[in-house]
Amino acid sequence: MKKSGFDIQRIVQAIKSVLPADGESISLHEPLFAGNEWLYVKECLDTGWVSSVGKFVDLFEERIAEYTGVKRAVAVVNGTAALHICLKLAGVMPGDEVLVPALTFVATANAVTYCGAVPHFVDSEEKTLGIDPYKLDKYLQETAEIRTEGCYNRQTGRRIRAVVPMHTFGHPVDLDRLVEVCRRYGLELVEDAAESLGSYYKGRHTGNWGKVSALSFNGNKIVTTGGGGAILTNDERLGRLAKHITTTARVPHGWAFYHDMVGYNYRLPNINAALGCAQLEQLPAFLEKKRRLAERYNKVFSGIEGVSFFTEPEFARSNYWLNVLLLDDKYSGERDNLLEQANAAGIRTRPAWVLMHKLHIYRDCPKMELSTAENLERRIINLPSSAFLGEEYE
Ligand SMILES: *Cc1c(COP(=O)(O)O)cnc(C)c1O
Repeated sequence: MKKSGFDIQRIVQAIKSVLPADGESISLHEPLFAGNEWLYVKECLDTGWVSSVGKFVDLFEERIAEYTGVKRAVAVVNGTAALHICLKLAGVMPGDEVLVPALTFVATANAVTYCGAVPHFVDSEEKTLGIDPYKLDKYLQETAEIRTEGCYNRQTGRRIRAVVPMHTFGHPVDLDRLVEVCRRYGLELVEDAAESLGSYYKGRHTGNWGKVSALSFNGNKIVTTGGGGAILTNDERLGRLAKHITTTARVPHGWAFYHDMVGYNYRLPNINAALGCAQLEQLPAFLEKKRRLAERYNKVFSGIEGVSFFTEPEFARSNYWLNVLLLDDKYSGERDNLLEQANAAGIRTRPAWVLMHKLHIYRDCPKMELSTAENLERRIINLPSSAFLGEEYE
């Protein structure tokens, strides 16, 4: 048989050459607890403050705000809850449509559904893996109608309220262009920054462009609280409202329980916030390790036919949360063979998510032409990306 230019074993060997050679199976992403985690969590247990009261929640919120450069951060139980509240604060109402990428984790679309609104799927661009602002602009020119109250979908008659870009695997979307599109069509911008803590667009941290933005601290994210998330905003009033609505909307009082709206019990427990404080202290070190790992991957794949390592867009500094190997278009049919052989070799790799419009729950939602997202779905392979893999070694 004639040997083709595409050599799966060579690619598997290349991945292996970057990873520690201790024969163990290498997971896709695991947390690293190398700092004050034990100390801070123990303090919660020693003092009894494990739940809804305690100093670590306030501390964690301050540190997150400081790090990301927003005026206010509100810690919540998970990233999905953060997104849900972000959309509500952005004014998303039942019956609205919200533009979300087809290439995303299901939480982005689910949060829209929780609001009684309908996700409307948009295409990605190859440069960022996130929403393509030029294509979106062209699409809205044809599809949207601007009325005095706002932007409407000509076909469905529903109001299009907001756009939720997602910074895919930590790589920022082209925010300036997207902000422009939002302005032109009167749409609210809500960033799903769940994957992009530590990622910057033109020198400013992601999560600063939207009216409100969401972070996640799930176990597989760059920093974890076990489970957790945060709402970010530069609007003090919205920040206060976010805190209020995620803590059952209780009116502060010495003993009385009065709630002035239907709130949510979305607050992050103190014990999780303690873990988060310890993790945040190590974020700069995590980022350095991840960048080193990405550089190693980039180097080994540079000479290999049929694949390329995805690197940050020129306007961004990415956290390289989950590393991406892109198959050349003509070899996309080999994706599952490569996944199979890599996983058989103990290297956890996986494809991108099934695109939202292909899930039966979202199959009837409005969507634009999605050829780039579909193409990327066939070509993306996520590589092991734990921070410890980027440690220095000889
Ligand atoms: C992780 C993630 C979320 C939120 O996830 P939680 O597990 O609820 O914290 C939302 N959107 C994207 C794109 C994510 O990757």
